[in-house]
Amino acid sequence: METPLQQLHSKLWEDRGIALWVKREDLLHPTISGNKWRKLKYNLQEAKRLQHDTLLTFGGAYSNHIAAVAAAGQEFSFKTIGIIRGEEHLPLNPTLRFATSAGMALHYISREAYRQKSEPVYLAQLAEQFRNPYIIPEGGTNALAVKGCTEIVTDIPIDYDYICCASGTGGTLAGIIAGLEGNKQVLGFPALKGGEFLKEEIEQLIHRYNGGRYDNWHLITDYHFGGYAKIKPELLDFIRSFQQEHQLPLEPVYTGKMFYGLVDLIRSGYFPKGSRIVAVHTGGLQGNAGFQERLGIAL
Ligand SMILES: *Cc1c(COP(=O)(O)O)cnc(C)c1O
Repeated sequence: METPLQQLHSKLWEDRGIALWVKREDLLHPTISGNKWRKLKYNLQEAKRLQHDTLLTFGGAYSNHIAAVAAAGQEFSFKTIGIIRGEEHLPLNPTLRFATSAGMALHYISREAYRQKSEPVYLAQLAEQFRNPYIIPEGGTNALAVKGCTEIVTDIPIDYDYICCASGTGGTLAGIIAGLEGNKQVLGFPALKGGEFLKEEIEQLIHRYNGGRYDNWHLITDYHFGGYAKIKPELLDFIRSFQQEHQLPLEPVYTGKMFYGLVDLIRSGYFPKGSRIVAVHTGGLQGNAGFQERLGIAL
């Protein structure tokens, strides 16, 4: 599953002898977006192998992962159940409207209950209540997701020095790092506060996947803009002008923050002359409709 590489041109980096490409994982599938498809691939195979007829997973009301699981269930003939954090709001937002139209059954739980989403006792209870579904964790991140994300880097047909990726739970970054086996430099851009916690999480995900420990990566923690799904006017301005200049659609939760950070690092001289950089577009564009509806803004 090779996705296109799009080279981006700008005086800002070309004057510094830097070349930049975007790996368009957002084009991987029309509705199972970007890294969520990579993370689901081996989970779907495992669910079939174990003869489950239902997928159950967790997410917030605007979750890219919820939308992706709903679409995957429809395409690969699983029933799907979404355990949604918080109360039901009607009319449904665009993400949940899409999920239900793809056949997903939604169950809302309180924020307190949601905190138990990884507890074995709670999962056993859900397994009984929903008749033995295949349970996928929040954000889709587990060892099979890490395996799927190693494939983001297996067929990049150019030589490069750095690869950049936005990070939430860290599953995608763990897969990229594990797939590169110590080669290249990997930069992760957390979309949430709390980079130190994420570092440990990623180390554990890699270790569980292939027993490896690598030191060719680090987290750039300065571009979360206040936390998950928090946005600031300068981020929106950046996204609008970047999209126009490069004909590249972005969203403000992950990819917009990563590109903002990447451009800022280039400007500040972080990358040596001659650097060749690949930035991964992890998708997530389905979330823009919800942002526009909620905030009354256009991107
Ligand atoms: C979910 C998501 C991420 C975060 O991926 P993790 O594996 O959880 O780190 C990044 N970008 C987009 C667009 C996403 O939807």
